[in-house]
Amino acid sequence: MPTKNIERIVLPPSAMGDRKELCVITYGADNSGQKAYLQAGLHADESPGVMAMHCLMALLDEADRQGLIQSQIVLVPVANPIGGAQWDHDRLVGRYDRATGVNFNRGHLELIDPVAEKIAGRLADDANHNKRVIRAALAEAIAAVSAKDQAGHLKKLLLSLAYDADIALDLHCDEQALLHVYLGTPLWPAAADLSAQLGAAVTLLASDSGGSPYDEALSKIWWQLPQRFPEYPIEPACLAATVELRGIGDVSYDYGRNDAQNIFRFLQRRGYIAGTAPPLPPLPKEATPLRGVEHVTAPSPGVVAFLKKPGEVLRAGDIVAHIINPVARSRDERVVDVKTGSGGLLFAHIADRWARPGRILAKIAGDTPIDGKGPHLLTD
Ligand SMILES: [Zn+2]
Repeated sequence: MPTKNIERIVLPPSAMGDRKELCVITYGADNSGQKAYLQAGLHADESPGVMAMHCLMALLDEADRQGLIQSQIVLVPVANPIGGAQWDHDRLVGRYDRATGVNFNRGHLELIDPVAEKIAGRLADDANHNKRVIRAALAEAIAAVSAKDQAGHLKKLLLSLAYDADIALDLHCDEQALLHVYLGTPLWPAAADLSAQLGAAVTLLASDSGGSPYDEALSKIWWQLPQRFPEYPIEPACLAATVELRGIGDVSYDYGRNDAQNIFRFLQRRGYIAGTAPPLPPLPKEATPLRGVEHVTAPSPGVVAFLKKPGEVLRAGDIVAHIINPVARSRDERVVDVKTGSGGLLFAHIADRWARPGRILAKIAGDTPIDGKGPHLLTD
């Protein structure tokens, strides 16, 4: 018998007459022993993940008809109905909450303190017991949060749907980019099958990116707690990843079906769906530190002409782009070189071609941490 269930959760209104809802689609039973959670469109202007979800639902519907779903799989294909309604002069502006200016994928709940308080004296010499105790404390801590605005309610709701997930994939995209994955350092190399199956050109590791993105709200607490309770076994219980499905314009049935198939095979290999997945493809590139990512910034205003493309490996000092300003006074200022400082794999650059001083134009994954990056490793 099919197990698919569709629930629509209404958000508190942000204005008189406002009504927004979150659609939560669940396959499999909730007592099946493990749970995977996937969402797309938290940055509401990023559509490749929504397309992948559409294609994944077709695969899961068929698997469900055949009775192959073995564990719970929860999908939120459109995770941000607030951002999805933020049209501005015929452009969807879905990255920041217009009411507060806050990035929808930053500032997610940090629950280490209330959870540590709740579990004190209740842990044992048994990692599974501790996982149950910590998840129960997480549920209480999330429920106790009083959200102040609609975006706060949304963040709390998204966390409440996934705090007990063993796998949580947050599907995003960059501007113009190769497929890449952000993961917590302690999840590597256990999560290498995810990067390999997705064909991730880059996997970026950080224990704390400094921005409290959604995936870290789910995963980071599992390596924060062992620092507070070193005498008890606590294992990373949530493989949470931010998956960047290439660039903002990379939306097609080919990409969508390919990504959905890869997610399906990953879940199959992890036991969520019956059947045998094909052999795991080779990992395209060993994971590198998020702290090793160079953000190449513009020194001056103008039009950007990229000389390098995503996928090219650069050496320190290579010219990534020219910034062209036809009305600059001197010849030197009319065409300005933008060079890489450290080198590595160019994996993303902006989708438009405008520079202002300080704007991040390109991202380059180096193999080693870059000195002086500070605590904030993500873009705004
Ligand atoms: Zn995003």
